[in-house]
Amino acid sequence: MVINFAAGPAKLPEEVLEEVQKELIHYGNSGMSVMEMSHRGAQYLSLHDVAIKTVTELLNIPANYKVLFMQGGGTGLFAAVCMNLMGKTGVADYVVTGSWSSKAAKEAAKYGKVNMVIPKASKFVNIPDQKEWKLDPNASYLYYCDNETVDGVEFNFIPETNGVPLVCDMSSNMLSRPFDIKRFGLIFAGAQKNIGPAGITLVIVREDLLGSPMSITPTVLDFTIMAKDNSVHNTPPTFIIYVVGRVFEWIKRKGGVDAMLKAAITKSQAIYNVINESNDFYTCPVALDCRSRMNIPFRICNGDEAMEKEFLKQAESLGMVQLKGHRSVGGIRASLYNAVTVDNAQTLAKFMLAFYEKHKK
Ligand code: PLP
Repeated sequence: MVINFAAGPAKLPEEVLEEVQKELIHYGNSGMSVMEMSHRGAQYLSLHDVAIKTVTELLNIPANYKVLFMQGGGTGLFAAVCMNLMGKTGVADYVVTGSWSSKAAKEAAKYGKVNMVIPKASKFVNIPDQKEWKLDPNASYLYYCDNETVDGVEFNFIPETNGVPLVCDMSSNMLSRPFDIKRFGLIFAGAQKNIGPAGITLVIVREDLLGSPMSITPTVLDFTIMAKDNSVHNTPPTFIIYVVGRVFEWIKRKGGVDAMLKAAITKSQAIYNVINESNDFYTCPVALDCRSRMNIPFRICNGDEAMEKEFLKQAESLGMVQLKGHRSVGGIRASLYNAVTVDNAQTLAKFMLAFYEKHKK
């Protein structure tokens, strides 16, 4: 088996895949696969509710928040957030720190006025101090992306908003650290990194933000309807939700999000240490205080493409795959989601060190 360092869809815990394999054809005593069950039947609804209960426990989600499984991916949520929350004042604050928040802001401009909180950056490599942010006093919400998957920029703080609802895209670092949900109005995360297979987006929304969608909001993107119907208003991706439930249980067995945080620090430090001690053979452009624990982009010899190609080729021959950087930034990107083990990350770090020793000038 290879070590999969993909940014998403990403590696899943082997234990979960094995469980799913065992149950693929006959789930419990049902005599059928989860894929074949009615989404209105007791057996499916039970695993649907258990998945919600487990994530509620893992993240300590208070009773005045709803947990939803939505479709349309992270990108669908860019639009859903606006249609459900922007109608109040027609304005929203967007903190653009990377390609995904940039895309979200562009989408939002279709539905209302977007206030760009920080100056437009030519490269996404840092997060300006909150004292320099320019908030719109009329904003319906403040939007940011906690971890920019492409650029490797991760917040190490939760923004202050003076009571304005805080909306956060946690697609690529959800369930990798504990955080105080009460600081947020809405959080969403596409499943295909830390949560499970591609196909659902986890949404956690405070109840008081429900009830005022724009009239154009499609039913499947309407948080109020989805909350009322426990995310089974229409047919949900039942099999995906079943696998996601298994991933939540796996996290719980492994010690919860505290254990995920501890591992994430160890894994990312192993890679950053090699980068930092390589005399600029490897370089990560991101400022030290916002380097991602999940996605580590780096260049070799200032972006020597032949050298980077050789690195990828050798890594692949050793079973380390999907390390190529996003096409918009180039270079290498190591994604270290929850299912990537400390051993996996150390194997990569050792290879990076050996490659450096061999090719340094
Ligand atoms: N937000 C972040 C942080 C992402 O990493 C991604 C995809 O990788 C998205 C949003 C978009 O998700 P989707 O491809 O499911 O639309």
